[in-house]
Amino acid sequence: MIKYRSLFLILAIFAACSPTRNIAPQAISYDGKTAKNVIFLVGDGMGIAQITAAMYVHSEKLALESFPVVGLHKNTASDDLITDSAAGATAFSIGRKSFNGAIGVDSDGKPQQTLLEEAELRGLATGLIATSTITHATPAAFVAHQKSRKLYEEIAADILKVDVDLMIGGGLKHFARRMKDERDLVKELQAKGYRVSDYFQEDFEDLDFNPGEPLVFFTADESPLPAYEGRDYLKTATEKGLHFLSQRSENGFFTLIEGSQIDWGGHANNSDYIISEMLDFDQAIAAALAFARSNGETLVVVTADHETGGLSIKKGSVRDSLVTAFTSQDHTLELIPVFAYGPGAELFSGVYENTGIYSRIRAAFGWK
Ligand code: MG
Ligand code: ZN
Repeated sequence: MIKYRSLFLILAIFAACSPTRNIAPQAISYDGKTAKNVIFLVGDGMGIAQITAAMYVHSEKLALESFPVVGLHKNTASDDLITDSAAGATAFSIGRKSFNGAIGVDSDGKPQQTLLEEAELRGLATGLIATSTITHATPAAFVAHQKSRKLYEEIAADILKVDVDLMIGGGLKHFARRMKDERDLVKELQAKGYRVSDYFQEDFEDLDFNPGEPLVFFTADESPLPAYEGRDYLKTATEKGLHFLSQRSENGFFTLIEGSQIDWGGHANNSDYIISEMLDFDQAIAAALAFARSNGETLVVVTADHETGGLSIKKGSVRDSLVTAFTSQDHTLELIPVFAYGPGAELFSGVYENTGIYSRIRAAFGWK
């Protein structure tokens, strides 16, 4: 009996560790009302406990509480049960499981077309908004194709190959002061017709979102500040960005909006950091919902790549003052919630793989 049990264990471990074969994205059929626009919001490192913590500290209801459809996704990478943000975002962007560190490439390291690139080819406007650098794993996985998330300058160069209409985030130095080559990607963006601005030149609040030209705004030279140190652009970027994108193309738009630093609060085992980032992200969610409600043809999907920190909320907690504990300084395997509103939202109920997000967004768009 013990022998069998250990054989089973060995087989189970082998199955868990063997690389996922490069399975083509799942096709989902959908004959409901399709979405013209999709707003895809990712709270990096946002598990159920992160949401719960923000909910019980905040005096009002979170925007997250008003979604009619909730599902759960399984977030494993192809080479590890515990995913990182690169493989996690790549599962969303290309619909295939890939290895930790992978940016827009499959488990064989082969570049695959992303949702954002497909939207661009289909004539939709596209956007990337993040509270990390724009070259960081989550946004990068939608526009770049690299075997390592650390290749920031290569990722920045990849971004030039895609005509993203709107980009707001940090990382100016990967464009303007490159170590590996002499290129000035800010000049190259301008040569492509972009208006490029940054926090040195003007306050984000004063930025003119003129839909006549594609727009890049760098919010920091490297990583933007945490929200608790005064970073507050995500809500405005979402409000003005969605209006801008809706005017950029009559075919609709696809945009990624990332609350990037919930994950960083998790790595730091700092629940105040997590909660402040959650509340900042929830304001962007509220702005996305407000746009979708008045627009009527917009699907809003909110999820995370993985949970970070193994956060739990313990006995002794009171509203406004939670007693928290962490089991990890890294990512965990917990199922991740998915919230959806708008045409195609019902596709997102149930339990499915993270790659199923890709298939469901495509189905909601009515893409065959
Ligand atoms: Mg991220
Ligand atoms: Zn992380």
